[in-house]
Amino acid sequence: MRPRGHIPLGGRLSGVVLAFAVIPLAAQQPPPAKKSEFESPAVEDFKKYLATGGIDRRPRAAPDTFLPPGNRRTSEPGAVRVYKKDEDGKKLDPQPKGFPHTVDPAEYKPAEDEFVRVHEGIDYSSRDAKGVVRPLDFKAGVYGKVTGVGTGDALGRITVEVDERGNRVEYLHTSKTFVKVGDPVKPDTPLGMTGDTGAGGQIHLHVQARNKDNKAINPDEVVVYARKPPADRKVAEFFVPLKWREGLTPASADRPPPAPPTPTPDAPPKLP
Ligand SMILES: [Zn+2]
Repeated sequence: MRPRGHIPLGGRLSGVVLAFAVIPLAAQQPPPAKKSEFESPAVEDFKKYLATGGIDRRPRAAPDTFLPPGNRRTSEPGAVRVYKKDEDGKKLDPQPKGFPHTVDPAEYKPAEDEFVRVHEGIDYSSRDAKGVVRPLDFKAGVYGKVTGVGTGDALGRITVEVDERGNRVEYLHTSKTFVKVGDPVKPDTPLGMTGDTGAGGQIHLHVQARNKDNKAINPDEVVVYARKPPADRKVAEFFVPLKWREGLTPASADRPPPAPPTPTPDAPPKLP
């Protein structure tokens, strides 16, 4: 079951779905010589995804990529959420009961003390085999290197860099960390324990992805890519930042400013 409040499927989506259906056929033809990574089918595919307003029709990371089987995805990247704000227009922390919640942005008219913004990651439930919500161990789900372990981080964030471009996967709200900065990880490496650190709500796992410029990128795309060992990542891939529609704010608006920019956005990857 998909969560409520998804971005509505507009009439134009049917055209987009058809467009996706023809991509595999096009991909079977011999590629033109010297095609840059910016012209690859994967990039065209992602541009079409962006044109839908954030509805991704491509394969998704399975819940048990990180957690034991039975844990569902409960919120998607691109879901629109309502938050309460104080008189100064700042987001209340913690949010009152019932906030944030997911809405249909086409229908929802925010009150004066509310604002809407886009959820940047995927949320997974954290239920044990008996269905009880509680902290659970989770795995990295990807190959990479730990670059942050959430110590002193109000969001309980564990960060794994997955390639030399600085693309990374982040796991939020964790209650325990089993790794330290610099540790290499594989998909089955136990990374930490789910929690509600900084979430002000139910224990769950939030998985998001960012590029070196601290822009949110599609976590499914990054996870599917980074589950392959670096040596097997033969296709040059890069990740387009998620697009925010007018009137919506990215969740990263609350975050500290990104680190100073690193050079050459179009540099080729130096994967091992
Ligand atoms: Zn989340």
